[in-house]
Amino acid sequence: MAEDFRPGTFDGAAAWATLAPDQQAAIGARALEYVVACEVQNFTAIANVPLAWARAGEASIDAAQAELEACVDTHVGQERMYDTAGRPLVPSVVGMFCRRCGCSQYDACDGGCDWAEPYLCTTCADPKADDASEVAIS
Ligand SMILES: [Zn+2]
Ligand SMILES: [Zn+2]
Repeated sequence: MAEDFRPGTFDGAAAWATLAPDQQAAIGARALEYVVACEVQNFTAIANVPLAWARAGEASIDAAQAELEACVDTHVGQERMYDTAGRPLVPSVVGMFCRRCGCSQYDACDGGCDWAEPYLCTTCADPKADDASEVAIS
C-alpha cells in the first residue's frame, strides 16, 4: 500500500495579490503568450497546416513556457513555490487530492472513486474492496 503523503499547496490568487502592478503585467503578458502558443500547438496537431506555421508554433510554446517560468521565478520567488524541504507545492487549481494515491477530480482512480474523508479517496480508504473485486473477476 502506498504511504500517506500530503504535499503543501500553492494558492496562485493569494500570491498574485501580493505582486506589484508591474510584476502582474509582466507575468500576465507571458501567461497570455503561453496560452496562445498552446492554441497554435493544439491547432497544428490536428490540422494540416504549412510547415512554417507548425514550426513557429512549436518554437513559440517552448519560448513562452521558458519566459513564463523565468518571470514567475523572478517575481513570485521559489520560496513561495516550494516547501521548506525544497519540494514544489501542488497548485490549488487541482482541488482536493488523495494523500495516498494523488487522485483528484481531474484524474480519478480506475473505476471511479469518491472522498472517504478529506484528502483520502474511497479506493485507498478501503483497499479490500478492490481486492475482492479482483478475486470476483478471476
Ligand atoms: Zn487514493
Ligand atoms: Zn481515488
